[in-house]
Amino acid sequence: MPVTAGPVRRWHAELAWLPGRGVRAGVLIEASGPHFTAVTTGVGPAACPPGTVLLPGFTLPGLANAHSHAFHRALRGVAQAGQGTFWTWRERMYQVAGRLQPDSYLALARAVYAEMALAGVTCVGEFHYLHHDAGGARYADPNQMGLALIEAAAQAGLRITLLDTCYLRGGLAADGSPIALSGAQERFSDGDAARWAERVGELGADEHGMLGAHARAGVAIHSVRAVPPEQMHPVVAWSHAFGAPLHAHLSEQPAENEACLAAYGVTPAQALDQAGALGPRSTMVHATHLTPGDIGLLGGSRTVACFCPTTEADLADGIGPARALADAGCPLSLGSDSHAVVDLLAEARLVELGERLAGGRRGSFRAQELAVAATVAGHACLGWPEAGEIAPGALADLVTVALDTPRLAGLQRGTALESVIFAGTAADVRNVVISGRDVVAGGRHLLVDDVPAALDAAIGPLLSPA
Ligand SMILES: [Zn+2]
Repeated sequence: MPVTAGPVRRWHAELAWLPGRGVRAGVLIEASGPHFTAVTTGVGPAACPPGTVLLPGFTLPGLANAHSHAFHRALRGVAQAGQGTFWTWRERMYQVAGRLQPDSYLALARAVYAEMALAGVTCVGEFHYLHHDAGGARYADPNQMGLALIEAAAQAGLRITLLDTCYLRGGLAADGSPIALSGAQERFSDGDAARWAERVGELGADEHGMLGAHARAGVAIHSVRAVPPEQMHPVVAWSHAFGAPLHAHLSEQPAENEACLAAYGVTPAQALDQAGALGPRSTMVHATHLTPGDIGLLGGSRTVACFCPTTEADLADGIGPARALADAGCPLSLGSDSHAVVDLLAEARLVELGERLAGGRRGSFRAQELAVAATVAGHACLGWPEAGEIAPGALADLVTVALDTPRLAGLQRGTALESVIFAGTAADVRNVVISGRDVVAGGRHLLVDDVPAALDAAIGPLLSPA
């Protein structure tokens, strides 16, 4: 890809993981503007040109959070109290959704994205369905909520793919009959997919789907529960017209499968396949409860599977067939979804740990495969295939993890990636560079001065008694 000119910057990584090349010591990394221009291994710090930034620790490419609902962050802890299911959690989530307005959503998303940057996330895929005001009334600019999210990412220093989500009805009953929208759900719907497409058209994407240097447009079908098959075509067509990523929630709960079978006589994966919604540009989120036939459809079409294991555990969803999907041909990506925690290293290791718990066998995934899911594959499924690698031409994202923390002390170079993936946490991230720009240094966010205070200030009013 073309290398954009800009100020030249250099970093020296004590250790770095270079996809395809493994862990290397003494890596001199050079960038011009937002892109890397050269990567040289085996360089001592003394041999670096003046002005080179030293990065002690272990450096990874940027992490991609491929599935986010920023406002769910307000439910952390609140959602963990007591008992319930996915469905009772959903009711609490609707309460928060009912209170958000463009200004409060901007404040919340800015803080949440800043938390992500502190955790090493350089790009977020925001699965955005909170489009309208109470009762479904349009804002003066019908994309005001989506634009607030794009602005929030800019203020937090991240790249964003706004996955503008089509959401048209309240769900499917167990017998397959449609459920009307009610309460906060009315804010999610455009009425029909044609009007969804019309609104998304007003976002102002260029011919490549770009909404700015840090933002691109993607699209989403919320789920087979929320979008009837005959309404899926405009979403798929938008993805084709702009080469834009297409995401959908898929088979998160057994009840979704049962209702879909009752309504249409096919599984959710079959329904999406029949609508033309599977393929290499498509990402199916969760993919938890699949038939062998579903796995064949997803793998054969090279559809990406996005796992969100901390949320899937938190919501008692189940453990998806990650290894079977990967073996069938699906690239894997990762997301923190409801933000029960924001920690991509935890998401990565839980893919393997889920396989161990469910299958009684260790080592289904090597650390390298999990790191690919967290980096290059995640960026690719968000429409940024030029990110997620430390290589010339790639977007200049770096995430450096400190090795002098209690969790990573004693790390051995030969198994450094295993240590970071299986024991590292978001709290170990010290420096983050995004598109050539410092966003986190020494564990501090450089654009959002006090991230905990920003989260407190944004979340408090959403949870206070009415
Ligand atoms: Zn989700």
